[in-house]
Amino acid sequence: MNNYQVNKNGYYGEFGGAYIPEILYRCVEELRESYLNILESDDFKKEFSLLLRDYVGRPSPLYLAKRLSEKYKCTIYLKREDLNHTGAHKINNAIGQVLLARRMGKKRIIAETGAGQHGVATATVCALMNMECVVYMGKTDVERQHVNVERMKMLGATVRPVTSGNMTLKDATNEAIRDWCCHPADTHYVIGSTVGPHPYPDMVARLQSVISEEIKKQLLEHEGRDYPDYLIACIGGGSNAAGTIFHYLDDDRVKIILAEAGGKGINSGMSAATIHLGRVGIIHGSRTLLMQNEDGQIIEPYSISAGLDYPGVGPLHSNLASSHRATVFAINDDEAIRAGYELTRLEGIIPALESAHALGALEKIKFRPSDIVVLTVSGRGDKDIETYLANQPDAYK
Ligand SMILES: *Cc1c(COP(=O)(O)O)cnc(C)c1O
Repeated sequence: MNNYQVNKNGYYGEFGGAYIPEILYRCVEELRESYLNILESDDFKKEFSLLLRDYVGRPSPLYLAKRLSEKYKCTIYLKREDLNHTGAHKINNAIGQVLLARRMGKKRIIAETGAGQHGVATATVCALMNMECVVYMGKTDVERQHVNVERMKMLGATVRPVTSGNMTLKDATNEAIRDWCCHPADTHYVIGSTVGPHPYPDMVARLQSVISEEIKKQLLEHEGRDYPDYLIACIGGGSNAAGTIFHYLDDDRVKIILAEAGGKGINSGMSAATIHLGRVGIIHGSRTLLMQNEDGQIIEPYSISAGLDYPGVGPLHSNLASSHRATVFAINDDEAIRAGYELTRLEGIIPALESAHALGALEKIKFRPSDIVVLTVSGRGDKDIETYLANQPDAYK
């Protein structure tokens, strides 16, 4: 049987590893040595699951979307991560990592953020746990995502605008790594997705795996069997997808569908479809698929959805794609917008633009009437209303 989990050296097939500067070796090694023990301790599990229940509002519902199911002629359940506190799945990871940091004796939390969602989740948890919080954010993003910057400030975090490079997520990540190099002893770096050097991809996947743990129980209640025929999720770095598929990775009855951001089309030069367009390279400490030019310089990604425009993708997902365990679709901006409107009008749920990419995959698949599909709605669309309205399809005017 295949095994798609990380191996003991931190690799998923040929992807993963920890390609880090000498100065970070101690930090990453300390994390690698302690994360599994902490995550599996009774004390951690108890505190984590209580917070997930009473603070985040878990379990998130598994909702049978009747009208959407009629449209696609199969049975579609939505895993409602949009109903979590702060409006997305990211809070699961932020809580887990801050609890872990406390157990490692760290006093200070740093994070990178692009659209601001991970920054807000981290700042939220730091307020809750009375930890110092510094969030690095590209200056371009600071200007584009003003509301999230204000939220982080209100929560007590320091937002540091980054003016290197294109002043977006990749540059913010570089700056956070630089900070960590300067404060290795007292600081934990909360990475927001299944990216970065080992053990981050595995650690974040485990913290998000509460999603598939719940899906198993909920499907059993609804359908009398604990696995679906299809799991569908969008991928930026890959954390909501990793959480959705974690307990089904080695179950080949379950087809895995991943939706990446096609932007204006994969051949348009304006895309974030890393798996379609990327070649193997190293980004932020991990060997993975990466959008790069012939000289190995990172190509700036583009997507209408700020949460999906990362030039890399998690090593887990690179391996799932290259071993054909997962089918990956590139969903373009206009397809995502249409799918977001469709869900809104059929079910009264406005999805995050990121999640709308997962919904956009539905029309690419030939379902059988007996198929059971679970699609993760990773977040809510309140933050995206202006973008939806500015791109409203004629059919919904
Ligand atoms: C950040 C974000 C994503 C993309 O991140 P992943 O790590 O790929 O899950 C998807 N959906 C929402 C709502 C987000 O905020």
